Amino acid sequence: MARVDPHSYFDDAQPRSTRWRLKLRVDFERKVLAGEVVLFFDGGASGVVDLDTKGLTIKHASAPFELASEEPILGSRLRLTLPAGTKDVTIAYETSPSAAGLQWLSPEQTEGKKKPFLFSQCQAIHARGVVPCQDSAGARIRYAAEIDVPEGLTAVMSAGPDGDAPGENGRHVFRFNMPQPIPSYLLALAVGELQGRDLSHRSRVWAEPATIEKAAWEFAGVESMIAKAEALFGPYDWDRYDMLVLPPSFPYGGMENPRMTFLTPTLLAGDRSLVDVVAHELAHSWTGNLVTNATAEHFWLNEGFTVWAERRILKALHGDEAAALGWAIGQRELEEALERFSDTPALTCLRTHLTGVDPDDAFSNIPYEKGARFVTALERAAGTKAFDEFVKAYMKRFRFQSITTETFYAFVEEKLPGLPAKVHASAWLDKPGLPAGAPRFVSARLDELNALADGWAAGRRPDPAALRQAPAAELVVFLQRLPRELSAADCAWLDANLKLNERGNYEILAQWLAIAAASGYEPAFPRLRALLSSVGRMKYVRPLYQALGKTPAGRALAREVFASAAPTYHALTRRAAESAMAKYPA
Ligand SMILES: [Zn+2]
Repeated sequence: MARVDPHSYFDDAQPRSTRWRLKLRVDFERKVLAGEVVLFFDGGASGVVDLDTKGLTIKHASAPFELASEEPILGSRLRLTLPAGTKDVTIAYETSPSAAGLQWLSPEQTEGKKKPFLFSQCQAIHARGVVPCQDSAGARIRYAAEIDVPEGLTAVMSAGPDGDAPGENGRHVFRFNMPQPIPSYLLALAVGELQGRDLSHRSRVWAEPATIEKAAWEFAGVESMIAKAEALFGPYDWDRYDMLVLPPSFPYGGMENPRMTFLTPTLLAGDRSLVDVVAHELAHSWTGNLVTNATAEHFWLNEGFTVWAERRILKALHGDEAAALGWAIGQRELEEALERFSDTPALTCLRTHLTGVDPDDAFSNIPYEKGARFVTALERAAGTKAFDEFVKAYMKRFRFQSITTETFYAFVEEKLPGLPAKVHASAWLDKPGLPAGAPRFVSARLDELNALADGWAAGRRPDPAALRQAPAAELVVFLQRLPRELSAADCAWLDANLKLNERGNYEILAQWLAIAAASGYEPAFPRLRALLSSVGRMKYVRPLYQALGKTPAGRALAREVFASAAPTYHALTRRAAESAMAKYPA
């Protein structure tokens, strides 16, 4: 017996299923997926196999099975006992309407308002609520799928399309095939009224009809990003890079589902100013999807590397100044995350220990921004040329594998002997907080912006005309550095001179609204109410609920908005809002 993942019943001493065939009917009335999965055990297997499930109703299995009672984080273990020589097991099942990995949207929650919408979010451990499986990143699978949807809707998956045809009773069946082995958390499905636009020979964007033109314009530059990334990290190994723009309740900025990145519509700023999220999700095609963290305890290997890679792509596309602004914005987000986890400092180590901790509760910017600074420390100590060669060797050596921090450490030591000690790697990996001597990122423009913001408390005001037209990232840096709580007159000055309430760029808008919320600035309350009632992206929802906690008027607004909006929030968004409100004074 060897369970290797604190968040899964997966046991690497047991037979491993390496292929699935899914056949699912999408039932919008009952909010369930119903059908079957065939788990293939190539070469034949026998004995006990433990699967993860959560909220699933198991109707039948072609091998003897036993479903254990539900554990709070893990869910219910489904124990199969395979007769000798078993090549495959078919399990007929149905998902729960409250599955955390599936969000069922009513037509009113979509842009078009006419058709319902479904999307999945399986990371961290929600695949088990969609399919009974060995739900651990170390157990990679290939899959084929048949998804049966109401006529007029389109299904997309983290896989290659494999044809579609009319089904029975006014339904339509979409087939998919995923030939590359992926961890289960990268299983992804979305169903809705969707249209596609080709952006290059290997990239297409999908969105609702009302959004598709905007999306195609915003992401038109994706092919040049893919080319830059290939130059840095080696060939793109997934054939196609397609993107899906979801309705606004999607809880993340993006999710790197292979062949089909899922994106929040809050990226559609209308000026291509937020496409760094696409650079991030694309970079995951190497760091995360190709070389994967073995468990959530090594999450920084996915996200720290990807933030580093994202900023290398940004630098290659837009130069040092743009990358420095990205690092500066990330620095402030890191400081806020360290503050939020000040009561649980163990969660601010890169290498975490998560037995008994829900990975969604451990989620923060720390593996992203602290992790990226650690990778930069390694890059600077090795020299960029040597480190780039190392990264290519790393991708090649661990391609389509899921690894631990310890494996990574040993590989660095092997290729660049003495480098871990030189950067005090253990302080990064096993100690809380940010090590002294962490890399700093400087630029002349960054210094100017910091000086402008730092002058605020002394009564100095920036030239509004110059700042109003500054690139979005510059305005974000400035707003991030202002004091969090301002007078009503100061808030009014900011809004009047920088037109902040009207911004279509959500990074600017959210920075402004966080100040307005913490300051109890009521003229911004309608905009806050509108945002929190429609947008589910946790990056905005959590800090805004936190900021509203600073004043009685803000707390009243938060409670009112939450009472009406909570039923439409994604389960993850709802939890983020609830945990922010739980810290309000009584
Ligand atoms: Zn990421």
